[in-house]
Amino acid sequence: MKIVCIGRNYLAHVKELDNDLPTEPLFFMKPEMALLTAGKPFIYPDFSKEIHYETELVLRICKTARSIAEECAADYYDAITVGIDFTARDLQRECKAKGHPWEKAKAFDDSAPMGEFKKISALKCPDDIAFGMKLNGKWVQQGHSRDMIFSFNRIVAHVSRFVTLEAGDCIFTGTPQGVGEVHVGDTLELFLEDEPMFSFCVK
Ligand code: MG
Repeated sequence: MKIVCIGRNYLAHVKELDNDLPTEPLFFMKPEMALLTAGKPFIYPDFSKEIHYETELVLRICKTARSIAEECAADYYDAITVGIDFTARDLQRECKAKGHPWEKAKAFDDSAPMGEFKKISALKCPDDIAFGMKLNGKWVQQGHSRDMIFSFNRIVAHVSRFVTLEAGDCIFTGTPQGVGEVHVGDTLELFLEDEPMFSFCVK
């Protein structure tokens, strides 16, 4: 299983980090060791002083394929959940400035907590999926899939041109605005269509 992540997929978030607008989906990957099972605590790593949460919709691929046509891409994912793309923002800034790869800022162990998957067909509003996160009981991020710059289908088609997607692979589809730091003692609560999916703490 691999974890593919899309960066800069919501306009307001691109602006809050002062990044350029992408002309095609920008992707990177996290290894399987990045997966943090829903509910387990996130242990604040010693290599960063600025870990940010990024709350994202996560797609699950259901059929193995490469070079998927955008028009049929919806046949290749069937389930969705919410997750956090934890980012060591201090290390990421350093990598960007030096033109280095992002892995140490993005792909570290436990950097991808995610909930149980739900069938997309069972959602109330599959064409505009609401999601969000409460930090210590207060809403800090609320997003809608209609605000994505690149659609799920476009993302799946684009990534599969370069990397074969296999059943069980997960795709983080980008964060809306409102990213920020976590601290030891924080509790994060994730929602999909107003339903609480899972919560966990930072230790
Ligand atoms: Mg992200």
